[in-house]
Amino acid sequence: MRSAHARAKDPVCGMSVDPTSAEVADHGGRRHYFCSSVCAEIFRADPDPWAEPMEHAHGEATGAEAGTAHAGH
Ligand SMILES: [Zn+2]
Repeated sequence: MRSAHARAKDPVCGMSVDPTSAEVADHGGRRHYFCSSVCAEIFRADPDPWAEPMEHAHGEATGAEAGTAHAGH
């Protein structure tokens, strides 16, 4: 059975999720959808890194790797 609904993207793990059954969290005036309550809780705990547009995900790297990746910044 195929759904005609557009898929939403879980910003935490990157999975496609069904908005009609996904976990949701509102942040910054937008609604975000998650594959599970686990991802939703991760997002709610610290929404800002996940709410950034994926194309310019600046704070994605954590720990030592961030230093080398943004050496010129
Ligand atoms: Zn997820």
